[in-house]
Amino acid sequence: MPEATMDKIVALAKRRGFVFPSSEIYGGLNSCWDYGPFGVELKKNIQEFWWRSMTLRPDVVGLDASILMHPKVWEASGHVENFTDPLVDCRQCKARFREDEIPPEKMAKRQCPNCGNKDTLTEARRFNLMFKTFMGPVEEDASVVYLRPETAQGIYVNYLNVQTTTRLKVPFGIAQVGKAFRNEITPGNFIFRTREFEQMEMQFFVKPGEDGKWFEYWRNQRMEYYQKLGIRPEKLRFHPHEKDELAHYAKEACDVQYEFPFGWQELEGIHNRTDFDLKRHQEYSGKSLLYFDDATNEKYLPFIIETSAGLNRTMLTVLVDAYWEDTAHERVVLKLHPRLAPIKAVICPLVKKDGLAEIAEKITEDLRWHFPVLYDQQGGIGKRYYRQDEIGTPYGITVDYQTKEDQTVTLRDRDTLDQIRLPYTALAQEIEKRLRSA
Ligand code: ATP
Repeated sequence: MPEATMDKIVALAKRRGFVFPSSEIYGGLNSCWDYGPFGVELKKNIQEFWWRSMTLRPDVVGLDASILMHPKVWEASGHVENFTDPLVDCRQCKARFREDEIPPEKMAKRQCPNCGNKDTLTEARRFNLMFKTFMGPVEEDASVVYLRPETAQGIYVNYLNVQTTTRLKVPFGIAQVGKAFRNEITPGNFIFRTREFEQMEMQFFVKPGEDGKWFEYWRNQRMEYYQKLGIRPEKLRFHPHEKDELAHYAKEACDVQYEFPFGWQELEGIHNRTDFDLKRHQEYSGKSLLYFDDATNEKYLPFIIETSAGLNRTMLTVLVDAYWEDTAHERVVLKLHPRLAPIKAVICPLVKKDGLAEIAEKITEDLRWHFPVLYDQQGGIGKRYYRQDEIGTPYGITVDYQTKEDQTVTLRDRDTLDQIRLPYTALAQEIEKRLRSA
């Protein structure tokens, strides 16, 4: 079977209105992307599935914290000091690299992976990944604020607000989806690594001593989640962090990885952050962040188990995983899980004339109340279906001459190409049944 390559995915995303280069008419802006009509729906469906998977639980609630936060937050979190990457320059071709991405044998010879010259790489410099800006009209040090590099800190500084207002007891979690910004040295691979992206994070607050058990629990939950999203299990794996890979705040960590066309890469990080963050915020703010357990009369700082996923990166995973070149029928199909498909059904009159278009339009209006649908009367019927196959629309409905006689239509399945005939009044129920059981 022909493989999904990044070139094919990027081309399809552009051709079908999923993702466009940002500011394209000005030549684009490196690693910035805009989400088109189908991209925005697909991204929203992934986000909604994640949100439901978290907040339908009685022990997880939501939050939407501000992107700009007090600058001390980032001192306390360690980002001002530690959120750096080692930046290496080539003196010859001026290419820039993250030191840890240069193969060790090249690094030993200070050989540039781009131009191949030896003894040309500079010493590594620490480069802070946070975007800085200024609050208010004066650009001075006192007014520096940062665009948040992760959504997590908004949860930590609010955890007692959430806990006291909801009266949740440890263990409980707070979920949040939002933008994060990192001035990455080497962005790339389409929407895999960008400087502006969205995270879906859930921070779970547990009693110290129970953290190991909950880390294990969430690790398994997260793998199950990706499978429910329709991702092929053989393309997913865990990557536990060795001691020397652990972030400064983590006691234990494990990534969920996916096999992208450019290799196995992180999709989500699961960390046992201990009480590092709450302890630091308590110290830097001077406010007590102790949790009071009224069952045992104990006061303590909870440990935190973090699950941190990238929304855009998940969308890339979904696109790559769903890409299918059906050579038998000379078509490209996005085999999206019907739950994620931006459009659930397309309604096509066989021809525009003889009243078929009017019937198809009426069916479209009726179905619109049940799920997202599209009406399409442009071009040959085969072409119309192939267009929808590339968008990932699971069902196609054709209104033909027989419809005028007996009010039946054909219903086509995107993957099997099976067609059945049924009264159009039964369409909503039939498609809803299929969507539920998918
Ligand atoms: P990496 O090692 O790939 O730089 P990280 O370990 O720094 O990632 P985390 O800080 O754990 O990533 O962020 C959690 C998740 O946020 C990642 O698993 C990824 O899905 C997403 N993410 C992080 N950085 C980016 C980025 N620059 N572009 C898109 N998504 C990102």
